[in-house]
Amino acid sequence: MTDVRMFDYLDQYHTLAGEMNRAIERVLESGRLILGEEVRAFEEEFVSFLGNGHAVGVGNGTDAIVVALRSLGIGRGDEVVTVANTAVPTVSAIRETGATPVFCDVNEDTCLIDIDRVGECLSERTKAVVAVHLYGNAVDITELRNHLEGADVAIVEDCAQAHGAAIRGQRVGLIGDVGTFSFYPTKNLGAYGDGGLCVTRDAGLASKMRSIRMYGFEQAYDSEREGVNSRLDEIQAAILRVKLPHLGSWVERRREIAALYDAYLPRELDRVRCQTGVEHAYHLYVVKVQSRDLVRQRLDGLGIPTGVHYPIPIHRMNAYRFLDQGRGALPVTEKLSRCVLSLPMYPELPDDHVLRVCEAMSEATAGCK
Ligand SMILES: *Cc1c(COP(=O)(O)O)cnc(C)c1O
Repeated sequence: MTDVRMFDYLDQYHTLAGEMNRAIERVLESGRLILGEEVRAFEEEFVSFLGNGHAVGVGNGTDAIVVALRSLGIGRGDEVVTVANTAVPTVSAIRETGATPVFCDVNEDTCLIDIDRVGECLSERTKAVVAVHLYGNAVDITELRNHLEGADVAIVEDCAQAHGAAIRGQRVGLIGDVGTFSFYPTKNLGAYGDGGLCVTRDAGLASKMRSIRMYGFEQAYDSEREGVNSRLDEIQAAILRVKLPHLGSWVERRREIAALYDAYLPRELDRVRCQTGVEHAYHLYVVKVQSRDLVRQRLDGLGIPTGVHYPIPIHRMNAYRFLDQGRGALPVTEKLSRCVLSLPMYPELPDDHVLRVCEAMSEATAGCK
């Protein structure tokens, strides 16, 4: 009996190894290693997966948020509304521009930004909302836009966990002003190293982002604006091009695994919910358990690995306490941090492993709520 894992890329690599190794060799033989044909082609292919728009490959998903915000003119003195139950990079990226993150509480069922409370977070300094499609569950960006009541506030979609998620048939990324993706190896589309991408329907913003990713150049050795160095590299782009044609079916497989969990986990176990019209991309399958740490320990004893995304809300971390908006400001965020539990999830996870997780869960939660 093989061990149940949270994530493992090796099966996928072995299936695609021939094609993958040929792609890497093609780059090395091409004589061009930075911003060449592979990145250009991948940008086009990825944005076609989402719809119609422009894509700009960058070094990682954190930089994608930095480049997006900077292209929108956001910096020191500005405020950016986001959530505190996210990966640190959402917030570190906002800080890197000099702007101040303002945290909005989340909806207890979906774990996503509470759109009804966004209004309370706006001030005359608010320049953007970074909406995080957490776990692969999708924020209704159109509804969010309606709640901004005509305010001149940009929407950046943090899609690092949501490649393939959709709302009313439209894949996330091109619904807001800019969508940002990460290709960190564990993500729904993972490189063999770091990678990231910004997408937008706005050709002007895309061309600004292209400039910002490379020292603010419009032409060689002449900075039109202040930029950074953050480029998707040719080898990672070639690897991602081999994988992209499979992304749709891998997301389908994640949904199939989620359906098995839905059917076979103990009925009374509380799950993260989707809003109507949302097609979840299941980067993570998350349940809520009151005695989370005890249950987790029991599962570990039964050979079932689990994760917690995330155990500490950002404003409770030493580095970010200065962003704490005061006691009781984010009650739902804090409550969720104590009960969320992520179960094994990746497309190659076999059905019998899923069923083993479900059985172990019945045993581990016996007597708990
Ligand atoms: C992974 C992740 C990022 C950052 O991506 P990197 O490629 O690791 O820099 C940003 N936001 C969220 C929600 C993530 O999960």
